[in-house]
Amino acid sequence: MNRITTLLIAFCAGFLPAIALFSLQNAVWGGLLGVLLWLVWDSWRMRQFDQQLRNAQAGLPLQESQGSWGLLTQRVRHLLRLSEQQLRQSDQRLQDFLSAIQASPNGVLLLDAQTRIEWSNQTGAQLLEIDAQRDVLQHITNLVRAPEFSEYLQAGDYSHDVVFETASSTAQHPKRLSAQLHRYGSNVQGNVSKLLMLVRDITALELAEAQRRDFVANVSHEIRTPLTVLSGFVETLQNLPLDEAQRSRYLSLMQEQSQRMQSLVSDLLTLSRLEASPAPSYEARLPVSQLMSQLERDARAMMQVMDLPGHGTHRLHFDCTVQHLDLLGDSTELLSASSNLVQNALRYTPPGGAVEVSLRLLPDDRVEFAVQDTGAGIAPEHLPRLTERFYRVDRSRSRESGGTGLGLSIVKHVVQRHGGELRISSELGKGSRFAFTLPANRVLMTELRLAA
Ligand code: ADP
Repeated sequence: MNRITTLLIAFCAGFLPAIALFSLQNAVWGGLLGVLLWLVWDSWRMRQFDQQLRNAQAGLPLQESQGSWGLLTQRVRHLLRLSEQQLRQSDQRLQDFLSAIQASPNGVLLLDAQTRIEWSNQTGAQLLEIDAQRDVLQHITNLVRAPEFSEYLQAGDYSHDVVFETASSTAQHPKRLSAQLHRYGSNVQGNVSKLLMLVRDITALELAEAQRRDFVANVSHEIRTPLTVLSGFVETLQNLPLDEAQRSRYLSLMQEQSQRMQSLVSDLLTLSRLEASPAPSYEARLPVSQLMSQLERDARAMMQVMDLPGHGTHRLHFDCTVQHLDLLGDSTELLSASSNLVQNALRYTPPGGAVEVSLRLLPDDRVEFAVQDTGAGIAPEHLPRLTERFYRVDRSRSRESGGTGLGLSIVKHVVQRHGGELRISSELGKGSRFAFTLPANRVLMTELRLAA
């Protein structure tokens, strides 16, 4: 029933009884009284409805009522339910969206128009060393103090990223971060007002890029040097009349240089093979007795060349406390890594010095292979860099003894591929110890040992 009809009914309810009892004039007054009463009652219902709406605002449920106001209440209740449902859905969508950003490997921050933090994912907080909850509404420039970042923010050109260092006092090596801002969202005037900030840790990326550049430069340099020497000799042989003795001396020097290039290329190929191939299987076995005897044979052969008469000889000692043990992995790689350490010990220990090679089973069933020498030793500042490609403490000494600067790099790769660890300790003037361990799952006791 619409409100006009109700109004007419109210009029008739006052008018009809009055016309029956009194005059027409009184009947009109009766009708108007009916309308008045209806209006009073209706405004009371409206107040009640208004109160209900206020209650609903406060979270109380809407009560059932009759009539047109009841109908309105029902409609409002329905609309409220609908909007609550929509609110829940968009809230859920927002939560899903935020969890997706939370899972992002990059840092994501939302900044308001005044560049205050509105929200940050955990990665962003970690990278910028801020607290995702505590630092909400803090100005980003109060927390990221790098001048490069402040300049970038002020310049307002966000078409590229900015790279800066974190000012962490705890980190030994500060992180290098790349951040880029993107404008989004709009205010009432329709202007883009908010900022999305994406942050990435590019420390490893930059390091890898620098290493790649160094590597290319090093390889070129290492190859160019013997090539220059070789071409010089070829020119001499072509242009100068040489006697037989000079000729043969030049030829042997040329052979030395080509040998050097061969070793370099062979080590480079070994390294690239190690990097490209999958981890060694657990199928192949290398008995430690075989490893140690092969190493000893090679070392003695090397000593025959190195230890010239009258210059003293190396004292070589092999100690293997466990014989009945097999190493599981790539035997060529394991032999090459251990032989590299023995050769280095002999090369960097003058004749008369001692080299001790040992292999033992550790209490936690790992195996340790160690080479200890009484050579010149290495200053502490060089130790962390020894396994870098082409890193040498004494460049000319390494070259003289036929080194490529890649040996320890190969050793480290082999050991890591087998799940082991390479440890280097040294004292200047006293000697060095190079040792690697292999995990227990790369060690197999042979039956003889188990039976014992
Ligand atoms: P290289 O072919 O030059 O020997 P490596 O990678 O095997 O290259 O070794 C890197 C550097 O580590 C060497 O140039 C040398 O300076 C140092 N080094 C390696 N082993 C020893 C050792 N036993 N004693 C002293 N210095 C060593």
